[in-house]
Amino acid sequence: MKFVWVLLVVLAGVWLWRSSRQSDPRLHRENEAVEPPPLDMVRCTLCSVHFPSGDGVQGNKGWYCSADHRQRAEP
Ligand SMILES: [Zn+2]
Repeated sequence: MKFVWVLLVVLAGVWLWRSSRQSDPRLHRENEAVEPPPLDMVRCTLCSVHFPSGDGVQGNKGWYCSADHRQRAEP
């Protein structure tokens, strides 16, 4: 009779381990949803280089890859 109880405890442990493993991908997806969305890719008006909008400088005529290019295009 003691063997049956040990078997039940082992089966319950395996069931709990598997159910916790199945919930891991869901938790991982929730963490990804918290991350900020990727920045838009924009093109430098002067040299046509593509870069994330967060890395560039915005001018009156559009985006520029650097403040130097903005000054050259919009003196
Ligand atoms: Zn440029």
